Amino acid sequence: MDAEILERINRGIILRTGAYLTNDHFVLPSGRHAQEYVEKALATTEPAFTEGLGDVIAKHFAEEPIDLILTTGYGASLLGHCVARAHPLRPRFIYANKQRNDSGVSQVTLPREFRQYFVGNPRVLIVEDIMTTGETVKGLIKLVKLLGGTVSGIGTLWRRMRKVNFKFPLFALVDREFPTYTPKDCPMCRRGMPINQEFRTGPSPQKSRRVRAGAH
Ligand SMILES: [Zn+2]
Repeated sequence: MDAEILERINRGIILRTGAYLTNDHFVLPSGRHAQEYVEKALATTEPAFTEGLGDVIAKHFAEEPIDLILTTGYGASLLGHCVARAHPLRPRFIYANKQRNDSGVSQVTLPREFRQYFVGNPRVLIVEDIMTTGETVKGLIKLVKLLGGTVSGIGTLWRRMRKVNFKFPLFALVDREFPTYTPKDCPMCRRGMPINQEFRTGPSPQKSRRVRAGAH
């Protein structure tokens, strides 16, 4: 099947989870405006969809000799579990913990109990839900190397930025980079479309609003 058609189907599935919001007006953490938004926490709220998406990733890597599926974060772990369940080699599913260090840099560490699975150079598939900057995946790759494993590939629902790449096979169900605008050039602002407040992630120009919201 044509890759673009397949991607449209996958995007439709993610749309049905409620995680992919479109035809709206969002303020992103960067302060830029966009018509589309992905709320990653919603991508894995329907188990049947999560299983279906996990199946697609598992199928893509079905020929790969995979011993471990490694994730971090709740959403990615739900998906990773489904990928492990669907892969023909029945790899073990494990997760790393993610924390910010004192300088605010995000770090991943493996729970001590999982270290035993890294004996004998296991082949590891990294699974991520929504990949934006790729920092988390980078941390997981480092972790696998440090523990003596080999990265077989990376599977993700959505790669938000095409420039994010690794020297390992990467499979993204959706590979869409949606356009963003400065507030000055935003076509939605120009049309007077109200900004979606529910999924507002960017800086708010109305400080008093935030204070009120925090008082609840
Ligand atoms: Zn706008």
